[in-house]
Amino acid sequence: MGKEGRLLLKHILESSGPHSTSFSWLSSSSDEKIFAKMKDGYNACLDEKSLHSIGPQPLIDILRELNHVYSTHSLTGAIYFLMSIGVETPFTLSVGADDKDPDSNVVVLAPPYSFGLPSKQHYNQTTLLDFYKETARVALEALLEEADDIGAPISLSSLHLPEIVDVLNRKIFNDMVDYESRIALSAPDPDYVQDVNKTYNIRTLDEVEAYIPAISVKAIIGNLTNGIKPSKIIVWSPDYLESLADIMASQKHEVIYTYLMWKVIQSYGLEVDSPAVEPLRKFNNKLRGMQPEAKSERWKTCVDAVDGILPWILSRFFVERTFSEEAKDFGDKIVHDIKNQFVAKLKHSAWMTESVRQLAADKSPDITNAEDLSYYYSNVTIHSDAHFANRLSSTRNDIKRTWAKLGHPVDRDEWIMSAPTINGYYNAPGNEIVLPAGIMQAPYFYGLTVPSYLSYGVFGAIAGHELSHAFDPTGASYDQNGNFTDWWDDSTLTAFERKSQCFIKQYENYTIPTKDGPIAVNGKLTLGENIADAGGVIAAFQAWRENEKRSADLLLPGLANFTKEQIFFLAYGMSWCDKSREEEAIDRIHTDPHSPNALRIKGTTANSRDFRKAFHCAAEEPVCELW
Ligand SMILES: [Zn+2]
Repeated sequence: MGKEGRLLLKHILESSGPHSTSFSWLSSSSDEKIFAKMKDGYNACLDEKSLHSIGPQPLIDILRELNHVYSTHSLTGAIYFLMSIGVETPFTLSVGADDKDPDSNVVVLAPPYSFGLPSKQHYNQTTLLDFYKETARVALEALLEEADDIGAPISLSSLHLPEIVDVLNRKIFNDMVDYESRIALSAPDPDYVQDVNKTYNIRTLDEVEAYIPAISVKAIIGNLTNGIKPSKIIVWSPDYLESLADIMASQKHEVIYTYLMWKVIQSYGLEVDSPAVEPLRKFNNKLRGMQPEAKSERWKTCVDAVDGILPWILSRFFVERTFSEEAKDFGDKIVHDIKNQFVAKLKHSAWMTESVRQLAADKSPDITNAEDLSYYYSNVTIHSDAHFANRLSSTRNDIKRTWAKLGHPVDRDEWIMSAPTINGYYNAPGNEIVLPAGIMQAPYFYGLTVPSYLSYGVFGAIAGHELSHAFDPTGASYDQNGNFTDWWDDSTLTAFERKSQCFIKQYENYTIPTKDGPIAVNGKLTLGENIADAGGVIAAFQAWRENEKRSADLLLPGLANFTKEQIFFLAYGMSWCDKSREEEAIDRIHTDPHSPNALRIKGTTANSRDFRKAFHCAAEEPVCELW
């Protein structure tokens, strides 16, 4: 979320009611109701006095429940319990559109999104791992002590040294981090999961059950689906599951159990106010290159919390406040113009789809309908003095909602990003692009009162980027209905791969500076995004030029030294200006399929003939070009 967007949401959340912030308010009792619910969620998070007096109790309650489930229902029960409250386990189960049958929902079994540290590379840093082990040990020890103090101890005799009751055995934490390292390192690399050809492996329930003898995946799926037996399961990485089974087989119970407790603390620890979880904060801050005690301002944390707990209610009031009918029409026009540019280009390319689907007009739930929203969140319980319970209720409900989709057709109008989000996405099985209202604000989108080359240069390039994902290595595997098929012939494929090699090489030559020397961009991991960046800006520029022919834009006063073409590219570059801490930049280079922002400017302009012409470069030929 951007700075301006967050400030605006603060203003909305701290106002007395929807009527005082909206441009065009049509008040209804449902609106008052959902506004009050949203404010309760925000206030519960802001109420540091209550949080302080509640202390670590809600976190301890979860650890106690885990202990109970683990000792009575074994590991399978424990994994199911953690999945039902959104805690990362060594594998994830989810429901989503079937790549080969995009109108049906299917169960997906995949490695977790994150293991505990931000990237595989972190598991090779000995000093960091030592700090990690000690953080886990100290935090868990303090929480167990707190549990004793409140008179409800969690019995974990196997974790203690035999002779000293209050001290947790360091060896278990060594083994636990070793266990986490081994599973993290056996997971596929981030570029593997970009390739649907590799991740689409159909298995039966019985085949899935055979992978990990220590856990009944079948029983977990049965619990999550309320007994529905899926006929097939998509397994992203069979190799990973085999390694996981081996690693688990050689591991002691108490190590795996400690690992599960640690995942709970990592997920929920910072939702409570207690000295017991401070080591976790310090460790997370170190990972991000921040001061040990650094804490973001509470209101910022709480705006983000509401965006996580009640995203669509927040979206309603955000859109109400920021979005006019004219702005939406202008945004639609830009997307439409860019789509036309693509369609024109595709006509000359035998290997591309005939048309790009109409943008999804509405979504689920309908954020313009307060009653719909009220119903959508009717099972999420929000109290103005129970921040932890609010988050838990929202998470449990999200997970239930996800699993309830099984057996029902895919809702093609569903969105995965809330309206204030500054981002966009291309959804391959849906063959659609989604651009939330958050991205339709300056400095990405400017209204009708500003020359249109600014909006085409930024918002247009982003829309073009998302559209061109339809033709990148992943999108190319889907036809116009979102079906995952091999519809390219061999010669097309060869030509595409040759062109891709150019992009891979180009970006591999780019580096980011670090105190230990430069680190090169991963050309393969970022290939799809780099192609989308190149295609997006080319299509946006041409769309703007067509528009310019119909109605010419004015020059910007004070910037008359620049041509309109040049300002188009300046606006594009400005939108990617940023500053990030070295630690974060390094994490991203290992895990993010997007190139670092500065290189998104450098690489994309190097690949744009129009940019080179606009700035009178000696050579107008682009470095790499797909279309
Ligand atoms: Zn992208």
